[in-house]
Amino acid sequence: MNFFDCIIVGAGPGGSTAATFAARAGLRVLLIDKDLFPRDKICGDAISGKSMSVIKRLGMTEALQNSTSLPSWGVTFSGPYGDQVSIPFTKELNKPVAPGYICRREFFDALVFEQAQEAGATIWLQTTFTGFLQEKGTITGVTAKYADGAERQAFAPLVIGADGAYSVVAKKLGINQLDEAHYCGGLRVYYKGVTGFHPQNHVELHFVDEAVPGYFWIFPMPNGEANVGVGMLSTEIKKRKVKLKTMLDDLITHPRFRDRFTHAEAIGPVKGWGLPLGSRPRTMAGDGWLLLGDAASLIDPFTGEGIGNAMVSGEQAAIWAKKATDTQRYDAAFLSGYETEVLSILTDELRLSHWMQRLTNWKWLLNTVIAKASRDPRIADTISCMFDDHDQRKQLISPMFYLRLLMA
Ligand SMILES: Cc1cc2nc3c(=O)[nH]c(=O)nc-3n(C[C@H](O)[C@H](O)[C@H](O)COP(=O)(O)OP(=O)(O)OC[C@H]3O[C@@H](n4cnc5c(N)ncnc54)[C@H](O)[C@@H]3O)c2cc1C
Repeated sequence: MNFFDCIIVGAGPGGSTAATFAARAGLRVLLIDKDLFPRDKICGDAISGKSMSVIKRLGMTEALQNSTSLPSWGVTFSGPYGDQVSIPFTKELNKPVAPGYICRREFFDALVFEQAQEAGATIWLQTTFTGFLQEKGTITGVTAKYADGAERQAFAPLVIGADGAYSVVAKKLGINQLDEAHYCGGLRVYYKGVTGFHPQNHVELHFVDEAVPGYFWIFPMPNGEANVGVGMLSTEIKKRKVKLKTMLDDLITHPRFRDRFTHAEAIGPVKGWGLPLGSRPRTMAGDGWLLLGDAASLIDPFTGEGIGNAMVSGEQAAIWAKKATDTQRYDAAFLSGYETEVLSILTDELRLSHWMQRLTNWKWLLNTVIAKASRDPRIADTISCMFDDHDQRKQLISPMFYLRLLMA
């Protein structure tokens, strides 16, 4: 009875995207999650351009617009010495669909999850994956525990791990969990009453002298709320013995930001979660299994965005689940095609972002880029085009770009 073509563990944006596309392709899909939806996920809640393209293919753009979400048209950066530049994601500010949105994960994840339900995936909620079922070393399904403690079993020749940063699926497969040089710690707190946002609802990334190479974010949200947080590479946290909570308090009362928080009030506790970075993705495929999203360590190492990469890898996982079902090939050699495909889509961008993450160690250069861009609209324009045009973004790793910038 509990036989499926594939079992997806984790119904976050990555797992729900995979389940939707796989079910739409005609596969018998089981999607399990330890929680009920809607549920919170600690995040900056920024839905980037990359997520938007998958959202479009899922057919849920309108649902996102009608949800409690805020359209965002650009990003504001500030540098270690206080220079600030606002860069639009696009020049067309009257498009019906914004290039990005900010939406509480409580609402956003429920929307993606609904797509999977509507597509016909079988859903088991409040069901925690506990291990694999195997026959003669071949994966044949999963064991899981329901909220009341009852054990459940389901059978499939393919298991997809989409269970996030602390992936139990990856752990059970013996895949290295935490590489501190490619892992970030992050804290998030919701506020109301923060002032001084850009009229086009820019997300804000601040590289403050006292906090770099970490960064402080302030994202506007619907109903006058804001998502505020701080993130830093785990190696730096350890090396400098940083207490992220103290750093967050210091940033909120920092002379550059305190006026904006004068009448603001935290409307929830400060919460933390890990960010496995795509500067070193995990092995993503093996005999009878695939990993995607945070479980595969695919978060952008510069911006901390991972929703888009989770959805992109989710879409690819569905394509490969269909290929595997059609050919009845579940071996590592065949499924490694999935990893090759995901890396071919993401590697250039992840490398570039890793390079930009390291740029934040060179305060003067980081500040110079931001300062020059704030004074010269042509530079701001070039950076703006980089959000849309990947070839343009490649300039950022060219020493000539910085030489020209310094001479400008
Ligand atoms: C502080 C912080 C700020 C961030 N800000 C942003 C941002 O602004 N924009 C952005 O794009 N990204 C951001 N990210 C990254 C983003 O949150 C993740 O990349 C994204 O959630 C990955 O999606 P996913 O589907 O892979 O995993 P998740 O969203 O983590 O979903 C995993 C799912 O698996 C379930 N699960 C876990 N274990 C089990 C189990 N054993 N059995 C069954 N189910 C299980 C969980 O309940 C969950 O529903 C941020 C992350 C952090 C920590």
